[in-house]
Amino acid sequence: MKKIKVLFVITLLNSSSIFWSQVDKTTYHSPLSIPLKLSASFGDIRPNHFHMGLDFSTNGKVGLPLFSIEQGYVSRIKITPLGYGRAIYVNHPNGVTSVYAHCSGFEKSIQKIIVAYQEKNQFNEVDITFTSGEIPVTKGQLIAYSGNSGNSSGPHLHFELRDTKSERALHPLVHGFDISDIHAPIPSKIYLYPIDQNGYYLNQKKISIAVVKSGVNYSIKTGKIVLTSDFMEGTDRVLIGVEGTDKIGVDLSVCGLFENELIAGENSIFHSRIDTVSFDHNKLINDYCDYSEYKRNKKKIHKLIHKSSNDLDIYKSAPLQTIQLRGNDSIPTVIKLTDAKQNRSTLNFDIVFRKELGTIVSTSKPSALYFLPDSAYYIEEVGNAIRFNPHALFEPFKKTLVITKDKIQLGTAITPLNNGASVSMIPIESAPIDKQYIYLQGEKEQKEALKTQVINGKLEAELPSLGTFKVGIDLTAPTILPHNFSASDTSIVKSAIQWKVDDSKTSISSYNLFIDGKWKVIEYDKKNKLINCVFEPLENGLMNFKLILKDVCGNEAVWTKNLRVN
Ligand SMILES: [Zn+2]
Repeated sequence: MKKIKVLFVITLLNSSSIFWSQVDKTTYHSPLSIPLKLSASFGDIRPNHFHMGLDFSTNGKVGLPLFSIEQGYVSRIKITPLGYGRAIYVNHPNGVTSVYAHCSGFEKSIQKIIVAYQEKNQFNEVDITFTSGEIPVTKGQLIAYSGNSGNSSGPHLHFELRDTKSERALHPLVHGFDISDIHAPIPSKIYLYPIDQNGYYLNQKKISIAVVKSGVNYSIKTGKIVLTSDFMEGTDRVLIGVEGTDKIGVDLSVCGLFENELIAGENSIFHSRIDTVSFDHNKLINDYCDYSEYKRNKKKIHKLIHKSSNDLDIYKSAPLQTIQLRGNDSIPTVIKLTDAKQNRSTLNFDIVFRKELGTIVSTSKPSALYFLPDSAYYIEEVGNAIRFNPHALFEPFKKTLVITKDKIQLGTAITPLNNGASVSMIPIESAPIDKQYIYLQGEKEQKEALKTQVINGKLEAELPSLGTFKVGIDLTAPTILPHNFSASDTSIVKSAIQWKVDDSKTSISSYNLFIDGKWKVIEYDKKNKLINCVFEPLENGLMNFKLILKDVCGNEAVWTKNLRVN
């Protein structure tokens, strides 16, 4: 009986995945009333994540109406100072959720529900979920207004489709959302790296070669890449990376690569397609791309290798199939780049190695000299400790760890990490522990404060990358300055009042405004360092303002003043 139940669940899951492709491509309503113009596509390489949706231009404007693409119900509303800013989620009957982010506001009746919730709980930041009966919407119904809230670098709509059950992000253009596109991807450069049998970089060596157009296809100038004994020293395997763009839609918006296949000789050895990404897997992008080239030079290099520990759903081929030389050989190599609408470019060249192969490094990097990705480490000295869970490291890293009383140092921020790496540090004696935090010391003077917890009398932080980690003390309260009025004003004629706020060492963690003692909803626009309070049409007269900010170390700043609002 139990077995039948399990089978039934599997059948349901399968049918929901079939559902995505069965949605009639012409049925979705446009989320905007202006022609759709892409400015970024799904899967584009970003810092620490894939771009999980489509960005649509709003012609530099905020406040354009946003429409639900299909009938359903509002399932979630989230308001945060960074990230998606104001975001609205709509669940649809076909098992898909649509998400509209960076909004300036919500439709009037929805806005009312949110403000009532904010006022009741005195929360400026919310993450509210709704069930199917609460806010039903019809197809094409106005639900919100476009904006620039959260971590948005200019007004636009960030639009997503997600599988409602698994919450995985879906590529809208291969999951029922149509945009016409007749242009194939354009490769610009290929890269070669010597690797070991685990797919790890063997050393720092790298070759880059420009791609040239060759008839309808692409090639490289000489047609062949001749590898030297020096380049191949110690290995018989080569990793290929490809850089390129894809122009989508009538406006030829420049987007990233979608589907990459590598054929060596007769065999297809690598195939990836960024059609769905789990939010839990997002940091694995730092292993998918050449992270140091991205961090240093903003180059978006797609590495054509599926490492066995990389769980991204984008890999469609078996792990660890690589180009392997035999010595005195020439391998005809093809890279096929395909976009979401099946437009394809083909890049052909030969990989040539005219010599006998030297001695091959047949074993992994020695564990005595390297921290290895599949191992766990906990190293403590003088009370300070660093921890790596298995697969927190993407690549073996030389054991150059330095732990002193003042710092933990391993490599630099150019080496990315997956989740599961942390440091634990003893607090500085001269200050209370709750005023202390761990920071990543940048290569110059910059310090990046990390989210720090106090656990058993020590400070702990998850690591964003390798680097130098130290303990800082924050005894300074945030600063609050008038922004759209002057400190000497006694009255303002405005529909909103704004303050410029900042915290020099850590970050602002709470912000509350009281007008005549009554809590009032405000918005914290973190990227612009602004606090924004919008007045209701009939809200005027002499008011007492009291704005209270706290940073993550509990330092409090209070700004108070009587102002006449006209
Ligand atoms: Zn976006």
